[in-house]
Amino acid sequence: MSQLNELYQEVILDHNRRPRNFRAIEAATATQEGYNPLCGDRLTLYLTLKGDVIADVAFQGSGCAISKASASLMTEALKGKTVAQARELFDKFQAMITSDHAGPTADLGKLSVLAGVREFPARIKCASLAWHTMKAAVAHDTDAPVSTE
Ligand code: ZN
Repeated sequence: MSQLNELYQEVILDHNRRPRNFRAIEAATATQEGYNPLCGDRLTLYLTLKGDVIADVAFQGSGCAISKASASLMTEALKGKTVAQARELFDKFQAMITSDHAGPTADLGKLSVLAGVREFPARIKCASLAWHTMKAAVAHDTDAPVSTE
């Protein structure tokens, strides 16, 4: 199990060092800011929706390794998904990092590397910031920045 944890840590560190889709999208159809005051994580999420499909997704911002790696992994997971699939993934991800019982599931794929944060309650908001921001971005019902508090 510890070898698995090391592997997971490697993935998180790698995504922190070289975050994927770390850029602004000029012609984004939705832009949403997110903030986690507990840790100071800030990010801006850019989405390009074509119909109901997330054609492109990217982010910029600054924060701890967990928040950055989580946003990076999320952008990889969401590209090409429908908004409904993205919401479904949000629910599964949220369950994985907050519930003792819902372990990593196969359909979460690489996102499973973040399952370990549930043992560190202070970091759960770091891991979920990008996801809450995404949910607000696809909802289109607010322009107000998302705060995890
Ligand atoms: Zn953080």
